[in-house]
Amino acid sequence: MTARRTTISIFGKDYPIPPKGLYAGVPGRGPEGKECRHCEHRQVAEYSRRFSKCRLMSDHWTHGTKTDIQATAPACEHFKEKEK
Ligand code: SF4
Repeated sequence: MTARRTTISIFGKDYPIPPKGLYAGVPGRGPEGKECRHCEHRQVAEYSRRFSKCRLMSDHWTHGTKTDIQATAPACEHFKEKEK
């Protein structure tokens, strides 16, 4: 299995490839080193498998995987630290 590419090179300059899913903001614009899994707005539902979604986008959720988010995606500008 090959590792997923996280950047794309255009004319010799590397740009990040945004992760797939429905995020409230732009992944990577949040605090340095934080990911969606650290965010208060992330919701995980368990059915036949685990579904990870951003609660701020709940009006647009579908029952499919297109609105899922990646827990390890870099945090967006709407990031809110999870309370412990
Ligand atoms: S960082 Fe938080 S608000 Fe932003 S997309 Fe991820 S779960 Fe949603």
